[in-house]
Amino acid sequence: MPVRYICKNCGYELYRFERVGQDFYGVRMPSEIISLLGGKCPRCGHPLGVPALDDIRIRLRVRWANKHG
Ligand SMILES: [Zn+2]
Repeated sequence: MPVRYICKNCGYELYRFERVGQDFYGVRMPSEIISLLGGKCPRCGHPLGVPALDDIRIRLRVRWANKHG
């Protein structure tokens, strides 16, 4: 399923993964997305922090665990 990074302040779609799960190493980490965007939402200027994307990271960890379980 596609995974999207959404600004929690304005709902702007910061980044989208279309093929999550097929290529784990091709998925960008939340910290990379934040870095690419200069640390803030391009629409509203809301500062982006890793904690806001924690749910995404947890999903990736679960996927990795299953692969090796
Ligand atoms: Zn925003």
